[in-house]
Amino acid sequence: MTTKLLFTVVLVCSLAAAQAPEKSSAGPEIVVSAKALQIHNSALVVDTHADTPQRFLDDGFDIGSTDPNDKGDISLDKAKRGNLGAEFFSIWVDPETNQGRFAKHTFDLIDSVYEQAARHPDRMMMAFSPNDIDRAHKEHKLAALMGIEGGHSIENDIHLLRDYYRLGVRYMTLSWSNTNEWADSSGDIDDLKVLHHNGLTDFGKQVVLEMNRLGMMVDISHVADKTFWDAIATTKAPVIASHSSARALVDAPRNMTDDMLKAVAKNGGVVQVNFFSGFVDENFRRAMMAQAKDQAAAIQKYTDDLKAQGKPVDYVEIDRMEREWMAKIPRPPLKSLIDHIDHIAKVAGVDHVGLGSDFDGVSGATPAGIDSAADLPKITQALLDRGYTADDIRKILGGNLMRVFREVEGVRNEMQAPSPATK
Ligand SMILES: [Zn+2]
Repeated sequence: MTTKLLFTVVLVCSLAAAQAPEKSSAGPEIVVSAKALQIHNSALVVDTHADTPQRFLDDGFDIGSTDPNDKGDISLDKAKRGNLGAEFFSIWVDPETNQGRFAKHTFDLIDSVYEQAARHPDRMMMAFSPNDIDRAHKEHKLAALMGIEGGHSIENDIHLLRDYYRLGVRYMTLSWSNTNEWADSSGDIDDLKVLHHNGLTDFGKQVVLEMNRLGMMVDISHVADKTFWDAIATTKAPVIASHSSARALVDAPRNMTDDMLKAVAKNGGVVQVNFFSGFVDENFRRAMMAQAKDQAAAIQKYTDDLKAQGKPVDYVEIDRMEREWMAKIPRPPLKSLIDHIDHIAKVAGVDHVGLGSDFDGVSGATPAGIDSAADLPKITQALLDRGYTADDIRKILGGNLMRVFREVEGVRNEMQAPSPATK
């Protein structure tokens, strides 16, 4: 479940004029061939963004669930069917509802991931490095990693950043949709009520360098354009975009321009494509904007009614409502998602693109055919159909992310090496 989409929709609503949607077709059913399946199953598949921890913590969801009616994108069963080898679980703290306790909620979400791994030691293990991911893969277990989504989690405290690293967090998104006290976000960059910094503050640059020194990947998804350029100019290690798509194809401020894609390539990093229909399909995005006002009003009324009755806001119910609103819009074809992978592979190079699904964070709004992690082989089929080689497909499915992760560790080792004077 998630309230993330609500925030996105409210923003879109306040910033953009409604436009009528065009007709969209979901396209034909995708059949995965034996050849595609063989390539897919020979790959180490790494996804860098799933919001499942909110389900663990607030919903009591067990990742071992085999409930056929479960609407979630991730379970151990679904991961197995999709040959998902490693998942970076998103540690996302809603900045609105967690005022004054960002760190506490961050710790609770981190704990929820460990608890799931402890419950299923035969099929899942915590992983903190590329070597751990390889080991989990050999043991046929899902490697569980963690990334913090939103720099507000560190509460402007570098000590907390280091504590999160020690607990296993291996990337941090510099901002979520909210500008924090040291990094501007694309989510509110046009909101005049928000105090902006023209990118990263001096402290924000220190955070980036400390992440480099620790070996925590710098994630530039969600950030404002200027924050991106400041991060690229500051970092000593390759960056990732854990879940971002291409702005040349869909004009969402969360998506990356071609100049940014080229800059990530030059930096040696990787852009992990977000599956959310509103980021990969222009028709869907326009339809979403057209209904945004009504959707926001309906959800606002629901939360106001609950508050008036003195009841807590029921996130499960909000997620149900968001799913209903998203389901009003025709699902885009899988082609829309593949177009983004293809575009980034062409602009940045095939060594700089991967998968960052945003599973369990988009209220079911994924392209047709992608209903959960079990459907990942369809992406391999679609890439094969476009002429990608098996080697290139394996890079996209996870090889590129593994390379960047290892390079980030290499930079960490260099930065932590004792200087000649102290040897
Ligand atoms: Zn996100």
